Amino acid sequence: MGLVVQKYGGSSVADAEGIKRVAKRIVEAKKNGHQVVAVVSAMGDTTDELIDLAEQVSPMPAGRELDMLLTAGERISMALLAMAIKNLGHSAQSFTGSQAGVITDSVHNKARIIDVTPGRIRTSVDEGNIAIVAGFQGVSQDSKDITTLGRGGSDTTAVALAAALDAEVCEIYTDVDGVFTADPRVVKKAKKIDWISFEDMLELAASGSKVLLHRCVEYARRYNIPIHVRSSFSGLRGTWVSSEPIDQGDEHVEQAIISGVAHDTSEAKVTVVGVPDKPGEAAAIFRAISDAEINIDMIVQNVSAASTGLTDISFTLPKSEGRKAIDALEKNKGGIGFDSLRYDDQIGKISLVGAGMKTNPGVTADFFKALSDAGVNIELISTSEIRISVVTRADDVNEAVRAVHSAFGLDSDSDEAVVYGGTGR
Ligand code: ADP
Ligand code: ASP
Ligand code: MG
Repeated sequence: MGLVVQKYGGSSVADAEGIKRVAKRIVEAKKNGHQVVAVVSAMGDTTDELIDLAEQVSPMPAGRELDMLLTAGERISMALLAMAIKNLGHSAQSFTGSQAGVITDSVHNKARIIDVTPGRIRTSVDEGNIAIVAGFQGVSQDSKDITTLGRGGSDTTAVALAAALDAEVCEIYTDVDGVFTADPRVVKKAKKIDWISFEDMLELAASGSKVLLHRCVEYARRYNIPIHVRSSFSGLRGTWVSSEPIDQGDEHVEQAIISGVAHDTSEAKVTVVGVPDKPGEAAAIFRAISDAEINIDMIVQNVSAASTGLTDISFTLPKSEGRKAIDALEKNKGGIGFDSLRYDDQIGKISLVGAGMKTNPGVTADFFKALSDAGVNIELISTSEIRISVVTRADDVNEAVRAVHSAFGLDSDSDEAVVYGGTGR
């Protein structure tokens, strides 16, 4: 039996009882003959609470110090989990991200993993211990400062360790039974997916299905690490995410035409009003944004009114980057040349994902029809080969997700999806 990496999210270790339950689960895997490396998130909503606290003492906390603060959340759970395992008579050692060899670039609050050197973890498991690793954190190769990997980053820690340790599988334990055709908190009739390809999962994750972080799926695809997403509260088989359907016994699993519907209310829209309609303007706007290290999502440029020669450019970005983007554009207003800026954080995005879209031309029309039947107005549209996304008012998002889910025949006709824990925050 080989090595398994298991990751437990915040809702799975929300309190002492949760930590003890997870400890038992880890010990079971060890008793079954596996070497076990467990990656843990901060307990419950600890990370959000620490961010709130930081904002109370400083409206724009310094990135370095915020990282130092946030990594404390995962350190609490890793130490408690190691204690709980020892209490069950098994040996366990906890490690910070830095001790586990998670090396990153130096972009605070959303660092990228550039290398993993898990020598201490390997030694620890070879000596018979269960290794517990704090998720979501690493150490910068250049500055040697502590970094965090962005919200939800423990998923990436788990897959990166699984790749570096050549693990058999990476199991992501969470508060639902797997990946569903929509967020079960919004669509009670969402169906659990047995198997999904890396490609479709990547699009769902990038479109807001936070059950897996998209960087984690990217990493898993690059190193071909199968992921098993499942509940830490039930013994059920979850969802396999891999390049090819894994052995399903007598079940016949094939690629669905539509994998699911994702939604995201964490973005905002910036509109740059009155931009001269001439070459170089878009380049200047997006240079200013990228120099501020802000990632943007959708972009639309309106047709200019011929009489004015001016146009408007809108783009979406994470709300958490809104202030920075506005500041960066204002600072470069002279060089870029525009009239004014508008900021709207009451937007939501709905995306339909499925590889079958490539060969089914009616999908786009059906998607828009479902939205119009639900009375939902569309503000922006973007597409990839296997995804269609629209931006709407934030208030319309839940209704729109349910309407699209039904229209594509994704509603389950048997059981309701179970959400075992978590606050959905
Ligand atoms: P964890 O704390 O375990 O990392 P997260 O809250 O990050 O858990 O992710 C699990 C949550 O993701 C679920 O509780 C669910 O509300 C949400 N979610 C969004 N889209 C989906 C989906 N398509 N399938 C399953 N869960 C989803
Ligand atoms: N605790 C971090 C967060 O809440 C990382 C994670 O849970 O994956 O974003
Ligand atoms: Mg998560």
